[in-house]
Amino acid sequence: MELNMRCRSCDGQRLGLILSLGRMPLANSYLTSEQLSRPERLYPLDFVLCPDCTLVQITETVPPEILFREHLHFSSDSDARRTHAPTAADNVLAHVADLNGFVRGVALRLMDEGVVQFEVPYVKDLIDHVEFDTIHHEHLCYFSLTALDRLSHRHGLRLLDVERLPIHGGSLRVQFVRAASHQRTRESVPTLLREETAWGVGRQEFYDSFARRVEQLRARLCLLLTDLRRKGKRIAAYGAAAKGSTLLNFCSLSRNTIEFVVDRNPHKQGRYMPGVRIPILAPDQLLAQMPDYTLLLTWNFGDEILAQQAAYRQRGGKFITPVPEPTIA
Ligand SMILES: [Zn+2]
Repeated sequence: MELNMRCRSCDGQRLGLILSLGRMPLANSYLTSEQLSRPERLYPLDFVLCPDCTLVQITETVPPEILFREHLHFSSDSDARRTHAPTAADNVLAHVADLNGFVRGVALRLMDEGVVQFEVPYVKDLIDHVEFDTIHHEHLCYFSLTALDRLSHRHGLRLLDVERLPIHGGSLRVQFVRAASHQRTRESVPTLLREETAWGVGRQEFYDSFARRVEQLRARLCLLLTDLRRKGKRIAAYGAAAKGSTLLNFCSLSRNTIEFVVDRNPHKQGRYMPGVRIPILAPDQLLAQMPDYTLLLTWNFGDEILAQQAAYRQRGGKFITPVPEPTIA
């Protein structure tokens, strides 16, 4: 597939399609009841690889004035990610539209021996664990260390250290210094760069099976849920987050299948999931209404949510985790 777009990092023109999620609503635009009578705007969500600099990215950039107009992203779940780094900018890199402008600005502000740290979701974990639901319109770039290495070189920076973290389905914590810094690059950097070359970070072949595995996951999940509904089981979902929007819309799960979604954020309660228009309620509704099954949309907080919902589970409620493959717990 030919795509009329240039790479967000290196300006390359050879972008290759990995997966098209079709036209999707904006994942964080939770609807009010008044908005239910109006159509929603849909935007293409195409996931592509730049073979020149290895950056995986989406092609569409929704203008920020549209993207953030109805933005209810102030989640309560980011506490676990606070770090005491020299300069921490968690998850910013993956969301910034002017990638080179942003990194140029960072490089300009960095002291001679300063260190800047970022955390980004790691594309290798996304592919390996079929985390297609982490793809949405605000999440523009899906980094490998190789892509970060090339990006930083362009702006006079150098990788100092990298660490793989289990959070959010797998992330990288990376540190950069000025290229001329006296601090020695840690062994973790060349080690992971070599690993990435070995699995084919910049080669379309590595990503080729991803679309097929996503299709398999969708088919299995739909079959499981349809089967449960046919048996008269009631199903809810947990977590009105961007990844929930992507999953529900990609699998076309409407209110016929999922009665309601629960979320701890009071600003989301009373609204509706974009696209599929399922109502969002408070988490205590799981106990109050006792659906037989709850689809765990925010699986990245799975342990925490299952612990919080001990009473629901003791009464027989079951959770379905959708990725890497649908499992019941
Ligand atoms: Zn590129």
